[in-house]
This record gives sequence, C-alpha cells and structure tokens, in this order.
Amino acid sequence: MTRMIRIFDTTLRDGEQSPGASMNLEEKLTIAKQLARLGVDIIEAGFAYSSPGDFEAVRQVAQEVEGPTICSLARARPEDIDRAWDALKGAPKVRIHTFLSASDIHLKHQFRMSREEALRRAVEMVQRARGHVEDVEFSPMDASRSDPAYLYEVIEAVIAAGAGTVNIPDTVGYTSPQEFGRLIRGIREKVKNSDRAVISVHCHNDLGLAVANSLAAILEGAGQVECTINGIGERAGNASLEEIAMGLRTRKDFYGADTNIRTEEIIKTSRLVSKITGMAVQPNKAIVGANAIAHTSGIHQDGLLKEKSTYEIMRPESVGLTQSKLIMGKLSGRHAFRQKLEELGYKLSDEEVNHAFTRFKRLADQKKEVYEEDLEAIVSDEVSKIPERYVLKSLYVESGTSKIPTATVELEIDGKPVKQTGTGDGPVDAAYRTIAAMTQTKSCLLGYSVEAITGGTDSQGEVSVRLQEEGKTASGHGSDTDIIVASARAYLNGLNKLAFWASKHFDPGQKAGLIYQ
Ligand code: MN
Repeated sequence: MTRMIRIFDTTLRDGEQSPGASMNLEEKLTIAKQLARLGVDIIEAGFAYSSPGDFEAVRQVAQEVEGPTICSLARARPEDIDRAWDALKGAPKVRIHTFLSASDIHLKHQFRMSREEALRRAVEMVQRARGHVEDVEFSPMDASRSDPAYLYEVIEAVIAAGAGTVNIPDTVGYTSPQEFGRLIRGIREKVKNSDRAVISVHCHNDLGLAVANSLAAILEGAGQVECTINGIGERAGNASLEEIAMGLRTRKDFYGADTNIRTEEIIKTSRLVSKITGMAVQPNKAIVGANAIAHTSGIHQDGLLKEKSTYEIMRPESVGLTQSKLIMGKLSGRHAFRQKLEELGYKLSDEEVNHAFTRFKRLADQKKEVYEEDLEAIVSDEVSKIPERYVLKSLYVESGTSKIPTATVELEIDGKPVKQTGTGDGPVDAAYRTIAAMTQTKSCLLGYSVEAITGGTDSQGEVSVRLQEEGKTASGHGSDTDIIVASARAYLNGLNKLAFWASKHFDPGQKAGLIYQ
C-alpha cells in the first residue's frame, strides 16, 4: 500500500531567509496560490510575530489561498503564539507551528534554560496553541544534535499536550541518512504515543544531504516533509520539494510512498520562485535545472530515439517541461491573447491584459515568433504588482569599441517626466548611473544576470538584478529583446520595490535578530 507523505512547503518562511530573497505581500500571495495549484498540503506562510510584513502575509495567505492548510511559525512564547493566532483566525484551515531547542548546545548557550524548563515551556506553549487551534505542530530545534533520550521525553510530552505533528529538524544540516533514519525509527519505537502524531522532518543542506536525509526518514515512517521550491532557505538551503516529490513518484516501487504533488506544475513553480526571489537555478540542478532532463551524449540520444526508457527515468512532461511552443504571431488579437494567458494559468484584470497586450504587440514586431516563455515573461512583469514610482519612457544608448558609453534616459518619476544623459564604463553602467542620478538613489548592485528566454539571437533577454540600499535588499526583473532595455527595466523594478518598502516602513531585514529553527 502506498503511504501518502504530507508536503509542508516553507518557501515563504525558511526560503525567504535566504540572503536577498525577501518578498513582499503580493509576491508571497502569488507564490502561495501557485503552491496551492502544485498541490502542497501545508504552506508555512511566515512568522507572524517577526514583522508587520510577515503578519500581513500570513493573514492574507490564510484568507485567500484555497486548498492547503496555512501555517504560521511561532517561538515558544505566549506573545508569539497569540500573534500567530491573530494572523490566522477566521481562515478555514490553519496550523500553529511552535518550536524550542532540544539540544544541550542550544539550551545552554543560546536559551540559557535547563532541560526541565525547556520541556515545561514546550508543553505549555503547545497547550496554549491548542487553546486557539486544533492543528498544532511542535519542533524540537536542533533535534539531530540532541540527546535522544531527552528528545523522546520532549516528543512524548508535546504529543500528550496536543501536538498533532512533531517535526524533527536537522537545523544545522549535520546528520547523515543512516543516522537520521535511525533517529526516526527510535522515535517510532521508543516514544509510547508516537502513533498519535505525524512525525515530520525538516532538513538543511549544509552537507548536501537534505533530500537524502528526508527520504531516509520517510523509509523509517516519517509522514511529513518540510521543504522548499528549488531548495532555497537558510545557508545552503532546505530539502528541495521537487526532488522529494519526484524521488518518491519515480521510485514508488522502492519507497512505497507518494505525495499529492501535481508534478506537472513543478517547472512553472520553480521558475516563479526563481524570478521572484532573484535566486537563479543552476543548470545542473536535479529536476528543475535547464539541463536536468536534457540528453546531449550521442550514445544516450541514439538510445532515446530507439526507446525512451533506455535513458529516461522521468518524462519531461511529468514535471511540466514542454518544448518551446510557438504560439502567437503579430496578427493575433486581444481575445486570443487573453485566452492563451488563461490557458497558461494567468487571470489578469482588463487593465493588466491591455498593458501586457501592448508589450506583446511590440515584441511580435521585433521578434517573428512568440513562445509561451515570452508571454510568461511579459505577464510576470505585469503581475508583480509593485506600484511604479519610476517608469521607463525611453532609453537611448551609444556604445562601441571607440565610444564613451552614453545613455539618455527618459523616466516618469511620480508622474512627472524627467530626462537626463550620462556616461559609464559600458552601456548598462551608463544607463544605471544615469537612472541612479535621476532617481537620487544610492543602491548597490549585488548581482546582475542575463538569460535568453528562448533560443535564437532574436530571443528576449531576461535580466535579474539584486539591489541593496540601507540594508534592504530587493530583486528586480525585466525582459526585452534589447538587453540594455531589459537591464534598465530590471533596475527600475528593483528600485520600485525598494521605494515601495521604504514607503510602507516595512523592513524585511528587521527579522534578522530573531531566532529560527
Ligand atoms: Mn530551517
């Protein structure tokens, strides 16, 4: 019989702890809705107590996203638990996830608590959370470095106090598959009431073993895995959702377990998260990397042509990877355009459709063939709804082997037209320096990358940037057939995010002082 493993996605909480991956409310909602389409069972939407931005994200995701259970993280403190409940109450399916360390290293040096105090606090806080909701999860942080005998005691006590899920974190990514499997088996065998709770795991990838450790735990009876899209997260990241889901699906014969994940949504979700967080996926990343399901060796290709199963263990379509499809040309009308967007899963307002359609027409003039990926690039610019304080009106750049790169930029700043010319040591630098002078911003460019959206020299370029100003980081994206224009769009998108956050007094960095599992 196939056991169903619950997928607890923490892209919006642990994933957001990746340096520079802070997301705003709209971005979190967009990702949460896609996670629901992907079929995750639980979404950890944030850490309500940590900042007003996180509180609001948890609240809105809980209210608006249908399907999964929505969860807020909370330290084992009354004010954290109550704040989590404030954000969740009124929503249909909610969970409070509270945590406290179980390792002597943490208790002694960080929490300055005895084992007895920590155990009592864990029980009290689980009870407090149960006073608000039915569905409570407890994590003994740093479980993999804890004394197993004490860990068993904590687990038994929190289950007796009403925790329906007990999550075993390998907080620092220290364990190995065999050892972690034994730990999970030990819990199942030694903790008397362990059959009354779902045992979950939360693995970090410091030694590259997060997925392997999670799968080893599943073999020993774990019923929930905490993971993130593309494996993003604190330091080396978390177990990657797509690898767990495809690992179980592809080797159901071996694991005897599966998930509710609609794997055909994997690539789309991966691209969305990568775009929003500004964290690129390496080409050789398992499942979602650009080369992951492509074969280049002649011997492999020969075999594949004769019979797919010779070298293919996963079908590209099973993760939603389809051949670049030519879909529209310059004669396509607005109605067909909207219909195509709906097929691709985008529901836009009339105004957004109009904006996107104008850009599509311009693109169709520049580029004979427009592919699905091109439309996705246009649309995702439209749906990343940051109010635009700075709008690009026109850009003219001169550069070459014997020219000083010069950019003339026309912007609309708070609705007023502004025009300026400046120079730099390359065309992108000239455009960026000129824009920085016009907007009077002093952000530092932490990262810049350009990728071709489809093949061919007439492909659109998609530029991603990461900007930092006064300790706040934002990612920006822009696409165009002209990479200098795409660069300017990406830069302005990042500046608009920084301006938006500054205007909201929302500080994504303010959470830094808090302690996470
Ligand atoms: Mn973590």
